[in-house]
Amino acid sequence: MGSARFLFDRILEPCVVTYNAIITGYVRNCQPNEALSLFRELQMQDIKPTDVTMLGLLSACALLGSLDLGKWIHEYVKENGFDEYVKVNTALIDMYAKCGSLEDAVSVFESMAFRDPQAWSAMIMAYAIHGHGNRAISLFEEMTRARVRPDKITFIGLLYACNHSGLVEEGYKYFYGMRNKYGINPGIKHYGCMLDMLGRAGHLEDAYRFIEELPVKPTPILWRTLLAACSSHGNIELGKRVIERIFELDESHSGDYVIFSNMCARARRGADVTYLRKLMKERGVVKVPGCSLIEVNNVVHEFFSGDGTRMEYRELHEAVDKLVEELKLVGYVPDTSLVFHSDMEDGEKESSLRYHSEKLAIAFGLLNTPPGTTIRVVKNLRVCGDCHSAAKFISFIFGRQIILRDVKRFHHFEGGKCSCGDYW
Ligand code: ZN
Ligand code: ZN
Repeated sequence: MGSARFLFDRILEPCVVTYNAIITGYVRNCQPNEALSLFRELQMQDIKPTDVTMLGLLSACALLGSLDLGKWIHEYVKENGFDEYVKVNTALIDMYAKCGSLEDAVSVFESMAFRDPQAWSAMIMAYAIHGHGNRAISLFEEMTRARVRPDKITFIGLLYACNHSGLVEEGYKYFYGMRNKYGINPGIKHYGCMLDMLGRAGHLEDAYRFIEELPVKPTPILWRTLLAACSSHGNIELGKRVIERIFELDESHSGDYVIFSNMCARARRGADVTYLRKLMKERGVVKVPGCSLIEVNNVVHEFFSGDGTRMEYRELHEAVDKLVEELKLVGYVPDTSLVFHSDMEDGEKESSLRYHSEKLAIAFGLLNTPPGTTIRVVKNLRVCGDCHSAAKFISFIFGRQIILRDVKRFHHFEGGKCSCGDYW
């Protein structure tokens, strides 16, 4: 992107095509804010955007999880007649789903006069990531009745739906059906969905065999899916076999060390935890800091885990302290077993958990939005068990819906429960 920008800045009279190229580039490289600021620049220069510009902007919003901004772009789309493009509508569905508003995604889908397979797939995926497995399946059935041919992406949505709603039998049916009925060969993502589904249902040994029998060489991501399942089910023996397979392929991913070491910590295997930390150090693996975003009044605020030294955080830390005390009164117990650094004192462990980025973002939302408003947070890593539990309590005692999108899925917290059913 650096080189692309260097060239872009040297074009004397950029036109909409040049802008589209650089905006799309930024989106593909996960730099949504850069993409949005270039759009503002384009507007100031009185250049008329095209449907391609809209696709870039909507993807940028989806990356940011910014619903207000997404709604503003939707208005812009309507005012400028871009809602005639099937692809723009499909991007709107995707954006709304990823920004946590399933209702808006549905209303865009229903308003479409013509739907191509991508539009159907986007809507199926929208239901899937919001945990409505059965609605995704019935939409798929409707799609086939309408004689629209499903593609690879449709099946990713469908399998994802089965997996996140615990529909194992249906999952198998569609997985085999995709090749036998539609002639589509499954790819890595389909395998990943199947694995996740088997793992969720507790069929861990089946899942292990499933990977070993794949016609392709498994990627570390596939093994990681199984590692996460071992962690959820507390199967440390299989977890150990799995992490060895991961290390054969890739030793550089900090998340693997963290997951396995948390498993060991929970099983009170302190020596293993220490060993893993040593391995990480020797191999030069650096932990990715947790980062959560929250949008309040059209401004996106960014919080990093545990960054207690920053002045502007002090007030927020005090608010979190107060919040945690309130939560404890209604039964919340900080889960200190999850803290990676096993040699910390319990008090220290609790405070490092307490200032996780998602807790900071949720507390910020509580302080800065009117009562009753939904709190929407986007996190760069998987949500940790302790923050998940805290969010459930917060949704209950403050009567707030919290929608947290982590790197894997959505969590809708309401009335003390989460839509994921405590499996993620
Ligand atoms: Zn946490
Ligand atoms: Zn959840």
